[in-house]
Amino acid sequence: MSAILILGGGVIGLSTAMILARQGHSVTVLERDSEPVPGSPEEAWQAWERRGVAQFRQPHFLHPPVSRLLGVYLPDVKEALVRAGCITFDRLATMPPSITDRTPREGDERFLTITGRRPTIEYAVASVAKGLVTVRRGAAVEGLRTGRSAANGIPHVTGVRTIDGEEISADLVIDAMGRRSNLPNWLEAIGARRPIEEAEDSGFIYYTRFFRSRTGAMPPYRTELLTYFDSFSFLTLPGDAGTWGVTLVISSSDPVLKKLRNPKQWTALIAACPLHAHLLDGDPITDVLSMGGTIDRYRRFVVDDVPVATGIVSVGDSWACTNPSLGRGITLGLMHAVGTAEVVQQHLDDPFQLALSHDSMTETRVTPWYRNTIEIDRKRIAQVNALIEGRPAAPQSTDSRAQIANALSVAMMHDADLYRAAAEMRSVLALPQEVMARPGMVDRIVEVASTHEAVNPPGPSREELLSMLA
Ligand SMILES: Cc1cc2nc3c(=O)[nH]c(=O)nc-3n(C[C@H](O)[C@H](O)[C@H](O)COP(=O)(O)OP(=O)(O)OC[C@H]3O[C@@H](n4cnc5c(N)ncnc54)[C@H](O)[C@@H]3O)c2cc1C
Repeated sequence: MSAILILGGGVIGLSTAMILARQGHSVTVLERDSEPVPGSPEEAWQAWERRGVAQFRQPHFLHPPVSRLLGVYLPDVKEALVRAGCITFDRLATMPPSITDRTPREGDERFLTITGRRPTIEYAVASVAKGLVTVRRGAAVEGLRTGRSAANGIPHVTGVRTIDGEEISADLVIDAMGRRSNLPNWLEAIGARRPIEEAEDSGFIYYTRFFRSRTGAMPPYRTELLTYFDSFSFLTLPGDAGTWGVTLVISSSDPVLKKLRNPKQWTALIAACPLHAHLLDGDPITDVLSMGGTIDRYRRFVVDDVPVATGIVSVGDSWACTNPSLGRGITLGLMHAVGTAEVVQQHLDDPFQLALSHDSMTETRVTPWYRNTIEIDRKRIAQVNALIEGRPAAPQSTDSRAQIANALSVAMMHDADLYRAAAEMRSVLALPQEVMARPGMVDRIVEVASTHEAVNPPGPSREELLSMLA
């Protein structure tokens, strides 16, 4: 039996740990935050102290691949999510009234997901993990230990050191320390090359308020969960136990809209948007919570075809994290966790091959989603900032990929199959390049888009919003 150490007991660290334990490994999770798992989801929401996860009480949504992967690899976690009150949500429920063809299609069940508030999700994951792996809460790691190089003089990690000075050995160390993981500095400290790192501030600020239903019934979704207005967006996410979150997303370069952090102004804006106003019909269970400074960051641990170190890999947000408006972090993290467990199963006895295979699995399965996500972020923030600064919007792109993407955003509002095609991309089921390669897809998008105009969601224009805030 091999000993595997997971650094970080967040959703992805614990999920990776459980999948590996199921393969027969002896897995220990070291988590810096000391508080034990609370006794109930409500206690988790009210009182669980999770300083290591800044976004712990921010809005979270799980895309359909989470439901499918949990069903295959961690069915007990899926059951625990249901027991904790998480709900099944049909991504097709947001199909607009302009689509009259409501006939179900074969395979529609791929759009079903299970979701809830982050503390509830983490409570369910952590409750199951307690019985499967050793989770040491209050164990903060501060550096790596090394042993004899396994290949070509490359530093080989053989364990970690905690801030209490304890040294713990392992056959493999997995970094799941989240978006603030300090791994590149730790690698440098053991003489390794720094990994490739790309990072940029996504430029968004999030103002969120959670509500609870007064009747137990959930409000209907009258438009997409993420709706773009000219200089702001709404992200409206269903939660567990009759709750939901309403998030206003603005640009961090927009000082005037920062007034919307004030609950009075925030409420006035939502109330002024006909497809969203009904989401105020509940009891607020939080103030308006704000979050900004979220970076998109990607790391690669094979440089010039050589791993920077062996005996260690990175998974989830510590590998790459994205701006949360597309709500993809846990979905991509779980895909990464499953791929990591496969690579470990095949190559645990060959550290050099394990590092290379982990890199190639990551680059094939998850990096394309990271790239897709930051492309969407960059395009959106550029549009919003151009409007704020009074610059003309970027000229219509001559890139045919961008033109087809624009055409799809129009066509999906009028055609049931094109709606599903767009929903597959938004739900992390298929990459744009896969969808567009389907026979006849591009022609159909162009044809449907050519007979319809883009429709903006109803709500105040920027000028109207500025006068509301004056
Ligand atoms: C505002 C916001 C909203 C988001 N919304 C969504 C969403 O809707 N859907 C979605 O899927 N994702 C969302 N995400 C992303 C999601 O939160 C992350 O992808 C997810 O938390 C990653 O899980 P993880 O286990 O990799 O890291 P984390 O959850 O960050 O866990 C890392 C853990 O490592 C521990 N740790 C750190 N350093 C040490 C150390 N030295 N020693 C021991 N332990 C350590 C921390 O205490 C923490 O528990 C959002 C993110 C933000 C910022």
